[in-house]
Amino acid sequence: MTDANDQANYVSNGPSGDVAPPPAGGAAGMDPDGLIEGNWDQVVESFDEMELKEKLLRGIYAFGFEKPSAIQQRAIVPCCQKRDVIAQAQSGTGKTATFSVSVLQRIDETSPDCQALVMAPTRELAQQIQKVMLALGEYLEVNCHACIGGTNVRDDQRKLESGVQVVVGTPGRVHDMIQRHSLRTNAIKMFVLDEADEMLSRGFKDQIYDVFKYMPEDIQVILLSATMPVEVLEVTRRFMRDPIRILVKKEELTLEGIRQFYVMVEKEEWKFDTLCDLYDTVNVTQAVIFCNTRRKVDWLTQQMTQKKFTVSSMHGDMEQQERDLIMREFRSGSSRVLITTDLLARGIDVQQVSLVINYDLPGNRENYIHRIGRSGRFGRKGVAINFVAEEDKRVMKDIESFYNTNIEEMPMNIADLL
Ligand code: ADP
Repeated sequence: MTDANDQANYVSNGPSGDVAPPPAGGAAGMDPDGLIEGNWDQVVESFDEMELKEKLLRGIYAFGFEKPSAIQQRAIVPCCQKRDVIAQAQSGTGKTATFSVSVLQRIDETSPDCQALVMAPTRELAQQIQKVMLALGEYLEVNCHACIGGTNVRDDQRKLESGVQVVVGTPGRVHDMIQRHSLRTNAIKMFVLDEADEMLSRGFKDQIYDVFKYMPEDIQVILLSATMPVEVLEVTRRFMRDPIRILVKKEELTLEGIRQFYVMVEKEEWKFDTLCDLYDTVNVTQAVIFCNTRRKVDWLTQQMTQKKFTVSSMHGDMEQQERDLIMREFRSGSSRVLITTDLLARGIDVQQVSLVINYDLPGNRENYIHRIGRSGRFGRKGVAINFVAEEDKRVMKDIESFYNTNIEEMPMNIADLL
C-alpha cells in the first residue's frame, strides 16, 4: 500500500458544506437526506422538478424510475447547468442514470454531431452504459454508440461517421477513432469519466489525457465513482474548473444493505473445498466469485467443472465475442455463477446478483467496495463472503479498519440471508 492510499478517502466539506446527519434507516445512498457531503447542498426531490425535456422525462418513467436517488437528487441539476461535477456515491445508487440523464438533457438531439463523450474502463461497462443511455433516451431518439476495443474498426468508423450524438467508449478505441477523424470532437461539450478514480490511475491516466487533448476548450467535465482517493482529487485540479463536489465519507461507503462475512480456511488449498460446500447455497441466487488473476479464474473454473458444478467464467484474455456471450448469459440469468477477475469489479449492474464471494481478497481497498457492490443493487439485499487464509488475515483487518466496518464470521444459516 502506498502512503497516499492510507489517507482519508474523501475530501472534507468545502466552504459551504454542512455535514448531513446519518440516515435513520434504509440503504445508504437511498436516503435523500443522508450521507453525502461536499460543497453542494441543493437537493431536487423529483425528476419532475428538474426542468428536464418532456421526452426525457417520459424515458425516465418508462424505464421504471419513480423517484431520484440521493446522488441523482444532487448531481443531475448542476450537471445540466454545465457545471464541472465530481460525484461520489455508493455502488448501485444510480450514478449511471445521473450522468445519462444529464447528457440527454444537454445534447441537441436534432443535430447529428457527437456532443458527449463518456469513458469507462471496461468494454462491458461501456456497453451497459450505452444501453441505459439508449433506454432513457428512447423518446428523444438519440443515437448512442459503444466505441470499444475488440470490435471491427471499420464498422466502428462507419457507425461514427453516420452521426452519433453520444459516444460511450474505452480509452484505446476512442483515441484511435479520434486520430482517424472518424470521431469528430469539435462539437463535444461534455466529457464524462465513469469509475473516474480507475480512469485516472496509472494504467489509464495517459490515455485519458491523450483523448482529453482533443476536447474543445470549454468542455464540461463530469467525474463519477464510488471511490475517490485523495490523490485522484488532486489530479482533477488540472483539468476541472471550480468543480462541484458531491462526496461520501469513506466510513459511509460500505453498503448498509450488504452483509459481509468471512470464512477462515487456514490454508489456500482449502478454499476450493469451502466453495464446493457452499455451491448449493450459491446456486440459489446469482453470484459473482472474484479471483485475483486470470490464471486462477481458469484454474478454478476447470476444478469446479470437473466436479460437475455449473459455472461460467470471464476475464480479459478472452475474445470479445466470448465475453459478450458470457455477459448475455449472466444478465439473462441462464448462467448463475460467474467466476471472474477485477475486470468485472466495477460498474456491472445485474440486479439479481445477491452474493459476491471473494475467493481471493482484492489487491486494493477500493476494489473491495466495488466488488461487494455487485450485489445489493439499488437498495436490494446482498451478501459478501470473504475466503480468508492465514496470510489474508491482515488484509481483512485492514479493510475493516479502513472502512470502519465489521466483517463477521459466516453463520451456518447463510442460505437464509440470500
Ligand atoms: P451505480 O452506477 O451507482 O453503481 P447504477 O447506475 O448502475 O448504479 O444503478 C444501479 C441500479 O439501480 C440499476 O439497475 C438502475 O437501473 C437502478 N436505478 C438507478 N436509479 C434509479 C431510480 N431513481 N429508481 C429506481 N431504480 C434506479
